[in-house]
Amino acid sequence: MHLFICMQIGVIWIATKMTCTKTKKHRKFDKETLLTSYNAIGRSVVNYAAPVWSANTSATQWKNIQTCQNAALRTATGCLLMTPVDHLHEEAKVLPLRQHNHMLSLQYLLGCYRESHPNHHMVDNSPPPRRVRKDIHDLEREVQRYKREPLDQEAYQAGLSGIHTDAVADAISSYKVNAVLGVHPPSIAAEERQLPRQTRVVLAQLRSGWCSRLNSYWARINEDVRDACPACDTGPHNTLHLFNCSAKPTQLTPEDLWLQPVKVAEFLNLELEPD
Ligand SMILES: [Zn+2]
Repeated sequence: MHLFICMQIGVIWIATKMTCTKTKKHRKFDKETLLTSYNAIGRSVVNYAAPVWSANTSATQWKNIQTCQNAALRTATGCLLMTPVDHLHEEAKVLPLRQHNHMLSLQYLLGCYRESHPNHHMVDNSPPPRRVRKDIHDLEREVQRYKREPLDQEAYQAGLSGIHTDAVADAISSYKVNAVLGVHPPSIAAEERQLPRQTRVVLAQLRSGWCSRLNSYWARINEDVRDACPACDTGPHNTLHLFNCSAKPTQLTPEDLWLQPVKVAEFLNLELEPD
């Protein structure tokens, strides 16, 4: 089943890209549109019936499915293959699939505790005496801290929000620190949305530390390339160097890639207006 899901996501995603390429409009789709498309036609497939199969899915199977999401996030953000997976998820504000499906399973189980739920009998019945496979009952202990008595609509909604908030916080704390800043990065300023797609791609790549405009990236994949700045001839020519280059001094800092993307784009002579 999982292989089928992987293939289906991949095929749907590739089909979407092909359509865009054919119409020559693929570069005009911004990150948000591409992510919305992925969430609608790709991730919704992996989320389908998550409470039924998530608990019994092996680490290898999760890895296979996650690979599909990584490809989609790379396409949406424009980040390179070297980009760490954690950065992709922070950039796209998307949960890793395993954490996302775990969250959905908890929310479903919480709903089952309502007497009006069609599957209320699931939590009312005692589990079978011998259970070999993991299933949603394994989450009963975890869901208790979100369950209030009585579980009316207000308490249920608060429980759903609590599960979501904790899932996002857990995912963010599990990410490795950003390679450029050495800490967890701030949120990307909303002003970035006014920039053209290609400029946003460069900024996203610079935030990840791997950018096709940097010699540190090209030197990694081609030993003939020298990892030195073309302007001041010192190295390494990485994201940090752009803000410390003696040939082009600036008051901006690497953190401004997140906080002031428009000013950074201006400083780097990137396009500020769409074609
Ligand atoms: Zn330099």
